Amino acid sequence: MTETVTIIGSGPAGWTAAIYAARANLNPVVYEGAINSENYAKGTLPLGQLAQTTEVENYPGFPAGDMTGYLDSSIAEDKRKMMAPHAKEGVSGPELMELMRQQAVNFGARVITDDIAEIDLSERPFKVKALGGDEFETQTVIIATGARANYLGLESEDRFKNNGVSACAVCDGALPRYRDTPSVVIGGGDSAMEEATFLTKFASKVYIVHRRDAFRASKIMAERALSNEKIEVKWNSVVDEVLGTDTDGVTGVRLRSTVDESQTEEIDVKGYFAAIGHTPNTDFLNGQLETNDKGYLILPVPHRTNTSVDGVFAAGDVADDHYKQAITAAGTGCAAALDAERWLTTQGLI
Ligand code: NAP
Repeated sequence: MTETVTIIGSGPAGWTAAIYAARANLNPVVYEGAINSENYAKGTLPLGQLAQTTEVENYPGFPAGDMTGYLDSSIAEDKRKMMAPHAKEGVSGPELMELMRQQAVNFGARVITDDIAEIDLSERPFKVKALGGDEFETQTVIIATGARANYLGLESEDRFKNNGVSACAVCDGALPRYRDTPSVVIGGGDSAMEEATFLTKFASKVYIVHRRDAFRASKIMAERALSNEKIEVKWNSVVDEVLGTDTDGVTGVRLRSTVDESQTEEIDVKGYFAAIGHTPNTDFLNGQLETNDKGYLILPVPHRTNTSVDGVFAAGDVADDHYKQAITAAGTGCAAALDAERWLTTQGLI
């Protein structure tokens, strides 16, 4: 069996690529990811990072409102039954992803709930093996496997995910629980500075917890954060435990000094934002595509989605360590499908 377009990944980039490829009669197949404990632990279950968030207020076209009837009428009944009731503050991440998935399915995209375990990009058509045993060839591949946020790995951090623990202030910072309450941001890079500065729009106070006595962030971003009167830096500190209850979510953090480990301090916060980097999901590629020094796929042609191997395209966060937004991922998913279609035409394959 030789596929024309295989899309790997099921966030906004993957589904947008699937919608465009399906509407171009390319009969795409989407490997949306396997549902297993390893993916659960890594945060790489189907539907991507948005499936782990609550409201999405910044995806254009979805203002706050009651979408219950719309969701009932647009999503297949079996999928709809598994979804939480609509919250009305805006579309939720899981709702947005189910809507995109449904749209791709409506246009004929085939969806397989499995991971791609191995892919051989050394010759075309490319040879692909899925975790569940499927083996096939494909003329083109669109890699849209995204990235996963790094967390410290504390048990208490995991316990309060979506209940005060987040890795995206831009996504979650404006939600009611973070308004007029203190939050903490972990990290000392540009993301931590950006997240902390963004949070000051809503939070009563923002602590930045950094393990050293100097930021890694660029000077301009560090200075912007340091000059903000709502921001206080806890230097030479790491988080020992996220404190809270199941009812209230996060209520504080216990910090430990990296200079004198016997020194601890508790601070009251309602929000905990990890900003210690992301890891792109590229393990299955076994180094066959060029990446930058942080492991993100390189797109060698400006404003195109081609990767370093002809016939392989990439979209979304797996090739973006800069914007990391749902809308930018969707945009590059569209571009990848169009690039794949044009490449197939030039090769005489369609
Ligand atoms: P990053 O530069 O790798 O910084 C990660 C930070 O997290 C570092 O300060 C690091 O501490 C800390 N950290 C890592 N692991 C930790 C752990 N286990 N415990 C405690 N702290 C830990 O990542 P980033 O800030 O996400 O930035 C990624 C890239 O995106 C960078 O190139 C950045 O310039 C870019 N970016 C740009 C902008 C912008 O220009 N607007 C915004 C965001 C990001 P150490 O410093 O001690 O290693």
